[in-house]
Amino acid sequence: MNTAMLTLIDAAKEKILAQKEWLTSLDAAIGDGDHGINMARGFEAVATKVRTLPPEAELPAILKTVGMTLISTVGGASGPLYGTAFLRAADQASKSAGLPAAALLGNILAGALQGIKDRGKATTGEKTMVDALEPACVAYDRGLTEGKPLPVCLEMACEAARQGVEYTKTIIATKGRASYLGERSLGHQDPGATSLCLLLEILSDFVNR
Ligand code: ADP
Ligand code: MG
Ligand code: MG
Repeated sequence: MNTAMLTLIDAAKEKILAQKEWLTSLDAAIGDGDHGINMARGFEAVATKVRTLPPEAELPAILKTVGMTLISTVGGASGPLYGTAFLRAADQASKSAGLPAAALLGNILAGALQGIKDRGKATTGEKTMVDALEPACVAYDRGLTEGKPLPVCLEMACEAARQGVEYTKTIIATKGRASYLGERSLGHQDPGATSLCLLLEILSDFVNR
């Protein structure tokens, strides 16, 4: 498959591995302490699996492979959620073929968000990855409407995602394992919102490299 995509996927794997302990410690505080382990396992498998794709594989096929690999290798809530996100992103990528890259990425992000919401039945304010991705999508679209180039739209999305992660500290979890803690989840940032933000930052670093 295309070397730029391989570079991006390898960078994602390396950065997730570097943050594995941190993501796990965030999950130890309000969950079962495996989010970093889950993400690392998933992205190591993804980096291996995408190498089996033919050189002519295009974005929809690559995203679909990422999604299916995450579903089959990541245990826990985040595997099916991220997996569905990438599968829906793949659908959007194929529907958006021919659009300029900035618009294409906006559709991909929107597809990923809808996938997570459909799969997890969460809306904003429930202390999940939705609290990072939904504001990121809104900010990205604002950038697009303002005619900003893709890297700027993506930086706006990252900033909104970082604020979304901060926001998760101020709310009580009502979805996922952290919801078992009720008010004791207050003051802690959500691990899934944090990894979602990290993935956006990895993509932003890649387009700005
Ligand atoms: P598990 O909770 O099964 O151990 P992980 O630790 O890998 O799975 O992932 C936990 C993250 O999954 C949470 O921090 C949260 O962001 C996300 N999550 C859990 N349930 C949902 C849901 N219903 N909708 C969206 N995100 C969710
Ligand atoms: Mg966990
Ligand atoms: Mg778990």
